[in-house]
Amino acid sequence: MVELKNVNVHYSSGVDALQDINLRINDGEFVFIVGESGAGKSTLMKLLLREVAPTSGRVFVNGYNLSKLKGNKIAKFRRSIGVVFQDFRLIQELNVYENIAFVLRIADQPMKFIKQRVPYVLNLVELAHKARSRPKELSGGEQQRVAIARALANDPGLIIADEPTGNIDPKLSYEIVELLKEINRCGTTVVMVTHEHDLVKHFGGRIINLDGGSITFDENIGGQNEDE
Ligand code: ADP
Repeated sequence: MVELKNVNVHYSSGVDALQDINLRINDGEFVFIVGESGAGKSTLMKLLLREVAPTSGRVFVNGYNLSKLKGNKIAKFRRSIGVVFQDFRLIQELNVYENIAFVLRIADQPMKFIKQRVPYVLNLVELAHKARSRPKELSGGEQQRVAIARALANDPGLIIADEPTGNIDPKLSYEIVELLKEINRCGTTVVMVTHEHDLVKHFGGRIINLDGGSITFDENIGGQNEDE
């Protein structure tokens, strides 16, 4: 569960990036966060990852009170979240298998578990056959699917996807969101930032719009794809 209570973020440059944000995202939801550039979307994502601290107000994620988190508890908290970035952030020197195994090793998972888990998550994103490929040998869409597999590796309750389709062929963008939707149907909460209106209209669901650091819209809309 994600809960923000009266949250403000004021940067030392003088910008009020978020103003009086009250927001609750329940377990199992799929939420699109939309808004113009500069609206505060990245700041909100950074708050949820505890990369930015609120100037005032309180932030709760996955049962952690982020205002009180310190030291190695922050690292432990972050492992309870899977993150997907616009630019994939795969390690170029490692192959697909090793990129995913890497995050499991950091989480101190035993080798036996890693050997089962990596093929499992690669199967979920239908890339088991690319396990030995380097990121640069894959298309943008495939690299993002590897990044999603990596985000799933530690079995997070929450996935944060920050413009995950931003560097992908528009046609493949739908596949990436469909994959995130599928993961959501299996029980993982997904929060996805996007500025792609067509995608949001197509899938529908809960849409939160930020404007000038405030929430100006938070509603469920029907998608064009009635199968959703
Ligand atoms: P978005 O992701 O919607 O484009 P951001 O959260 O990046 O919006 O930015 C919100 C506002 O905060 C903008 O005015 C931006 O210039 C400012 N901002 C973002 N990051 C910083 C920072 N590290 N220091 C100072 N100002 C920042």
